[in-house]
Formats: sequence, structure tokens, C-alpha cells
Amino acid sequence: MAQPAWQEPVPLALDSAPVPEYGGGSLADLLPTLAAGQDVPGFDAVIPELTPADRNCVFLIDGLGWEQIKAHPDEAPFLHSLLPTSRGGTGRPLTAGFPSTTATSLASVGTGRPPGEHGLNGYTARNPETGALMNQLRWKPWTEPRVWQPYPTVFQLAHEAGVRTAQVSAPTFEQTPLTKVALSGGSFLGRLSGEERMDLAAERLAAGDRSLVYTYYSEVDGKGHRFGVDSDAWRGQLMYVDGLARRLAEQLPPRSALYITADHGMIDIPFDEQSRIDFDEDWELSAGVALLGGEGRARHVYAVPGAEADVLAVWREVLGEQFWVASRDEAVSAGWFGPHIDARVHGRIGDVVAAAHDDVVITASVNEPHESAMAGMHGSLTPVELLVPLLEVRS
Ligand SMILES: [Zn+2]
Repeated sequence: MAQPAWQEPVPLALDSAPVPEYGGGSLADLLPTLAAGQDVPGFDAVIPELTPADRNCVFLIDGLGWEQIKAHPDEAPFLHSLLPTSRGGTGRPLTAGFPSTTATSLASVGTGRPPGEHGLNGYTARNPETGALMNQLRWKPWTEPRVWQPYPTVFQLAHEAGVRTAQVSAPTFEQTPLTKVALSGGSFLGRLSGEERMDLAAERLAAGDRSLVYTYYSEVDGKGHRFGVDSDAWRGQLMYVDGLARRLAEQLPPRSALYITADHGMIDIPFDEQSRIDFDEDWELSAGVALLGGEGRARHVYAVPGAEADVLAVWREVLGEQFWVASRDEAVSAGWFGPHIDARVHGRIGDVVAAAHDDVVITASVNEPHESAMAGMHGSLTPVELLVPLLEVRS
């Protein structure tokens, strides 16, 4: 029914936001299910449809969402053949956690826990100890990794239980705090080229009777940010990574399963003022705000003490038709960050959390010039960002 023209705009209902399927259908559930299948103590098979092999390999393709694979059969014929629509394909989607962003998702994968527990709750977030923003992808300013994320990774626990574990990724990630808190355990092997990573992942998989190998490729995300999803550069990367996945699948040793997944999808944001709302130039949105965290499509808004309710009211009034705008308590009880929020994580969540529903972002031209200029973005709860593939190949 059309609204009369004079009526106030109606904000999006929070219960219309998709919620990550923590506890059985999310990225955080993958490694625990594999570890349970390998008899690592302390883990349950929380993804019931999954039957892990003795040797399990996870190939994480940064930025390649479920919807993007479905939409590009020509560029990704191999990945597409693993979808349930094709003959013999058993693939299904998982959800990322919230926000649907790399630091959060890699921590969910590696720890097997939702963001409310591992605490990497976005691209940037307030450190309650210092009151300053912490960039959780680049780990700036430096923060003691084991204090920020104290849980052991699934790799560590599997390694201790006698499973041969390895991470095969770019050499530059070997010493990073994000690797340390999210992906360490067993041996880290850095290789520059995608082909070398695939070959080495297959080799490491064969190195034990029970093995758990993780490998990673970043440039689908990189080209999507820079040129947009569907750009020629992005399509070229999709064709390349499709070939990498096939190369790895063809080298699987006996009794292996390869699981191809991603950390999030991506969406293109038009380059116009309606689609890119600049927080740094907006006196209304910035009033009463002490710190702006998160990223364009998933904002943590930290209010000046006492201004929390006013900031929530203004953000909801200005943005509520295009964003799901929640108070911290509302976002927590909606389950966006998981069923449980650790005490140390609570203050990292914004007083207001804004998740984009439409093809819009809240940029920050002064404080985030690089991020604000990106063509493709992600972070929110829409299916194109939240759904990631779980494609399986068995030997
Ligand atoms: Zn990204």
C-alpha cells in the first residue's frame, strides 16, 4: 500500500535483516565440523550434512560470494559445476558472520567461533582499553594479539591432537598478528603464486594420514574493490581462481575432501552523492559521535558519553530506510555477532550499529580516503555479501 506523501519515512524493521546462521550454517562452523570428523577432542559436527574426509583442505577465496559464482557460469565453469544445480554438485551456501569482512571472517574460520567470542568484530573497532580505533585487518595500532583474541585456533588444537596442519598463503602474511590469532597452528608456508600454493597444499594434504590444510587467494577481492564486481579485471581474476581450484582438485591425494569457500561477497556502489554518504561532511550524522568505526556498509558508531540515544535517533531518522540501524543491545539481541558476547568484546561494538540494506555506503572522505574511493564494497547482511560458498570435491 502506498504511503500518503506527508507521512514520516518508516525505518527498516530490524527483524527484516538476515542473521548469520551461527551454530550450523556459518563460516565459524566449518573447521569445528572438520576437526570433529578427524576425532580432535572438544569439537562437534555442527554442520550436519558435511562428512569430512581423513584429509581436509579448505581453499578460501577472498571476496567470492555465493551469488557471484551463481551469476558467472562462463568465467567460473569449474566452481559452477560444484553448485547443487549442476549434475553431481553438492555445494551449498554458508553465511559469513557480521560484519561480512575479511578480518572478522578469517577469525571465525580459524577459531571456529562467532565474532562475539573471538572479538574481531569489523574492519575497525574501538579498543575499550584505550578508547582509540583499532584496525583489525592491518592490526594498527599494535595491540597484544593474544589479549585481543585469546582463544586457540582449530588448527592449534588439531595439531596438538596429531593432525598434520598447514596454512599455505602469501609469504607476507606469515608474521602478521591476524595470522597469529586466526590461522596459526602447525606450519605456515608462504608461496607467491597461486599455482605454487595449490601444488603445495595438495602436497601437505598427502603428508599425513589425517591432515588439515588451509590455503588462500586474495585478488578477486582486490580487483572487486578497485574496479568493481563484473569489471573486466574482476572477471579475469574469477577465471584465474577457477583454474586454481580445478588445479588443486585434480591433485587431491586419496581419502581427501576439498572445501572451497570465501570470507564474504561484494556489491558495487554507484559513484554519486546519494549512494555515498560522507560522514566527514555530514553535520547531522556526526553530531555526538566520538568515533566512527567499521566500514562503509557496516558501521560501528561510538557516541560521546550521554549522547547514545540522540545519535541512535538521528541515524535512524536520516538513514533508517536504507540501513538497518540498531543500538548495541538491539544488534546483540538480534544475534548479529553470535549467541554470546564475551565481556571483553562488548565495548568494541558500536553504541549504534548501521548495516546497509540498499546499494549505499557511509564513507569518510577525510579519515578513510582510500576505503571511501573503492568501487566494490562489503560488510553488511544482504545475501550478496553474507552468503559464501561451501563447494566440495572428494577424491
Ligand atoms: Zn574486501
